[in-house]
Amino acid sequence: MKNVAFFTLGCRSNEFDTHLMMHQFIQKGYRVIDFEKADIYIINTCSVTAGADRSSRQAIYRAKRSNPHGLVVVTGCYAQTNPHALSELKEVDLIVGNTHKRDILKIIEEYLEGRGEKIYVDNIFRQNSVENFDIITYFEKVRPFVKIQEGCNRFCTFCVIPFARGKSRSVPKEKVLKEVRLLAEKGFKEVVLTGTQLTQYGWDMGTDLYELLVDLVKIRELELVRLSSVYPSEISKDLLDLLLSEEKIAPHFHIPLQSGSDRILKLMKRDYQVKDYVKLIEEILKKRPISGIGTDVIVGFPSENDEDFTKTYNLLYELPIYYLHVFPYSDRKGTKAYAMSHKVSKKVKRERVEALKSLDYEKRKIFLEKNRGMELRALVIDENRLLTENYINLEREGYRKIGEFLRIKI
Ligand code: SF4
Repeated sequence: MKNVAFFTLGCRSNEFDTHLMMHQFIQKGYRVIDFEKADIYIINTCSVTAGADRSSRQAIYRAKRSNPHGLVVVTGCYAQTNPHALSELKEVDLIVGNTHKRDILKIIEEYLEGRGEKIYVDNIFRQNSVENFDIITYFEKVRPFVKIQEGCNRFCTFCVIPFARGKSRSVPKEKVLKEVRLLAEKGFKEVVLTGTQLTQYGWDMGTDLYELLVDLVKIRELELVRLSSVYPSEISKDLLDLLLSEEKIAPHFHIPLQSGSDRILKLMKRDYQVKDYVKLIEEILKKRPISGIGTDVIVGFPSENDEDFTKTYNLLYELPIYYLHVFPYSDRKGTKAYAMSHKVSKKVKRERVEALKSLDYEKRKIFLEKNRGMELRALVIDENRLLTENYINLEREGYRKIGEFLRIKI
């Protein structure tokens, strides 16, 4: 029996894909082991920033060091977007892009028999469906993550994701409903809907996220549906009304802002302005005041000057946001921003990241303070940990009803 080890970088979609690949190998009698001395290493890479590429390469080197005779297979977004750079690394034996992830086991077995190529990467934009999702649920303790969508139609100028994941494709609504019904019947109280760009759900199938949610919340045994991330201008009026009125939808919204400067937003090809974003946040908090709102921000986008950054900082300082995920801009070949001039120096980017990280720390403290004394629904994750509906992690000892919701005073 052969041993296989997996290493995953990046987002939840990638974790999800690793889970699918692992399942295939286990079904075929392989043993999944830790990174010590496997026969086969599968590195599921990320390429969202230059740093992610670097971490992916480090994982590749580590695999070959662990067993110089082992087979090192590289898959994921780095493999999809830059297979030729990877093929130059002597540690890499086989490259399987996102287009071929579904067949990875077959490809590896053929390779081991001395057949096949070194690189399996096709045009990701030719993928029209997500039929390769035999399994659409990934479990994190008591919270199932249900992947309902893949890819993105937007092409923000800094983002490599559409090139790595392709255009938006959705899991058919009936399949999602059936899966969530089964999960609810098995006793799971909360599900998290995930995808590359959740608010594009159903665009390829004549439906949308609103219609899916309307049916999902009717599942009696289900207590909470959490959305992983929503794009500001893709939230329709119907969807917003539902998010703000339906108790079964978690009052926790991750809404990427990216910049507080309209000039930079335009250069990023984001199709909203700061005032639209502010209006959205105000409306959410007016109708569901307990909401925990998180956001993503990129600093150091080409030509971002002190004035632009100050606008971002001041906006986030004022807005009652719970937390920020801060990323320094990173050049990605093939994107429009790659060719833009007036790149911001590493030093300035680092200073801006640090400033926003300190702000993030303050924002979290303020949000937690605001919640003190409130009574909220919380899912018991394990004996010592709860997660509230608005995304506060609580550590307290002695819980028994794991996987159940409690009402607790913060
Ligand atoms: S919306 Fe923009 S940032 Fe988000 S995945 Fe699509 S292209 Fe990338």
